[in-house]
Amino acid sequence: MKLNVDELRTGFPSLHQMVNGHKLVYFDNAATTLKPQIVIDRLNAYYQKENSNIHRGAHYLSSKATAAYENARCTIQKHLNAAHSHEIIFTRGTTEAINLVAASFSKKFIHEGDEIVVSAMEHHSNIVPWQLACADRKATLRVIPVNNDGELVLDDLDALLNEKTRMVAVAHVSNALGTVNPVEAIIAKAHQRNIPVLIDGAQAAPHMKIDVAALDCDFYCFSSHKVYGPMGVGVLYGKEQWLEQMPPYQGGGEMIKEVKFSGTTFNELPFKFEAGTPNVGDVLGLESALKYLTNLQLDAVANHEYNLIQYAIEKLKTLENIKLMGSPAKRAGVVSFLFTDIHPYDTGTILDKMGIAVRTGSHCAQPLMDILQVPGTVRISFGVYNTFAELDYLIDSLVKIRKLFT
Ligand code: PLP
Repeated sequence: MKLNVDELRTGFPSLHQMVNGHKLVYFDNAATTLKPQIVIDRLNAYYQKENSNIHRGAHYLSSKATAAYENARCTIQKHLNAAHSHEIIFTRGTTEAINLVAASFSKKFIHEGDEIVVSAMEHHSNIVPWQLACADRKATLRVIPVNNDGELVLDDLDALLNEKTRMVAVAHVSNALGTVNPVEAIIAKAHQRNIPVLIDGAQAAPHMKIDVAALDCDFYCFSSHKVYGPMGVGVLYGKEQWLEQMPPYQGGGEMIKEVKFSGTTFNELPFKFEAGTPNVGDVLGLESALKYLTNLQLDAVANHEYNLIQYAIEKLKTLENIKLMGSPAKRAGVVSFLFTDIHPYDTGTILDKMGIAVRTGSHCAQPLMDILQVPGTVRISFGVYNTFAELDYLIDSLVKIRKLFT
């Protein structure tokens, strides 16, 4: 099945605007995706007709909103192929999901002298929460190295895992390089030693079918705003066996069973981890975004984006003084590069003048930039609506930038 890109573009209002006198070309999808009208309409419908606080209300609107919210949880359970809907926890995004696990899991399972393993290509969101947990629990952070192709050195993982390792946390797809990590092999290696694995799926969920049962990961997280849904909401999947044992992350309404000054008992899953009024409208928007992606067919999405990536790499390689970052065997969503004689920020700023949105900098992966010994990169990242004509325009614009600087 092939994506009908011309047709689907008509459903994204933000695409049809001029930026600095040019038609917008949006290659910043790894930062956030544009939203289809169908998602915007879902948000409007909620606020116009269903707006209500949920779970406790005795009235019509509250029941309606509660049913819609819990139904969205079931949609997401099916989308991820999770065993139970109570294994789906709504968070503010990937960052909060990882912080939740790092704080709560570590309180119960991580003790002085224990170790946590992350990789050298993690987003800061999958480093700093573990550093905080390590500081709190007097544990040590260990790092899976990355090679010059931008791939994890899996041979080193065997040496890193030992009887003190309590958690392995890795990205499914690198936001800086686009590398698709061999998470199946990492999970298998960790599970041989009964070590749980958290997968940061922020950059995978927009580009591929995620099956947490097939992966057998212990935790998986992603952000709504990177899968064409609204900002401010995300998903943590966790295996029931872990979530049941983990203490609450935040206290407040919803997460309690009974509150007394002599002591409080906590609600069952998933509510134990959803303190306070949930972000109902955005959860419903996320549900419609995932339905939208499913309707497009994730295989067709992956195929279209794969072709864009191959085309981009082939064309970029023809430019002078260009350094392509990494050449991983499997890549999704992202191509990173820099001109060796032009600062990435200058390239990005001039592209913006030409109506092209890209991201420049360290992409919240400073340790990786240090390893690669670059000040940052120019990152182009793809979404379902990107076209080969847009890539041609990008390449022409890069040629002009080169001329400007020589
Ligand atoms: N992990 C990865 C790999 C990311 O790319 C990002 C965002 O760019 C995050 C985590 C954090 O996501 P959020 O800011 O939506 O919480």
